[in-house]
Amino acid sequence: MSRDPARAASQFFGGRVCLDFANTLDWRLTDSPVELIPDFAALLAWSERRGILPTRALTKLRQHGGESSAREVIHVAHWLRTQIWSIAEDLIAGRRARLGTLNDHLAELPSQPGLRVHHSRYVFELDGSEPQQTLWPVLWSLTAVLVSEDAGRLGTCQGQGCGWYFVDESPNRSRTWCSSEVCGNRERVRRAYARRRAKS
Ligand SMILES: [Zn+2]
Repeated sequence: MSRDPARAASQFFGGRVCLDFANTLDWRLTDSPVELIPDFAALLAWSERRGILPTRALTKLRQHGGESSAREVIHVAHWLRTQIWSIAEDLIAGRRARLGTLNDHLAELPSQPGLRVHHSRYVFELDGSEPQQTLWPVLWSLTAVLVSEDAGRLGTCQGQGCGWYFVDESPNRSRTWCSSEVCGNRERVRRAYARRRAKS
């Protein structure tokens, strides 16, 4: 596989926070997927790059790195990711999404805080006082997708083994790749090679 993990962890092709979060297991559909958020520090680094937490919260959250609650958050993060995959698969197939225990999880969330400007975009005003806060912007993004037209526009990359999700915002819903530069090019090369081999 040709995608460098550090680069993959900085590529946001999903178009929504929760889908980019779902895409933090690279080469999801292969026998050797690459974990892009193996620990709490990696999750915070991802959140910082994705721009979903205020700087003050990130600074405070980094102090929790070694705590058992931070390790627990990574378990929940990986669980949440599987939930998003399953919801996305249902929606792409035109089925009603199986929410499973997601609603129980949502019921435990506090009400959404106010917003603040962070690097010319808006983030939730979280204070970083507890590691679980790291996942809240992802959960709120997921609810926003589910209650909007986005839910009918989800797609998944057709690149072999990729499995990344996105909101297909093309006018005729024809988006095929997470990125034409990444999977599109790779697939074109792979298919051309397969054709040449078939001919020889
Ligand atoms: Zn792809």
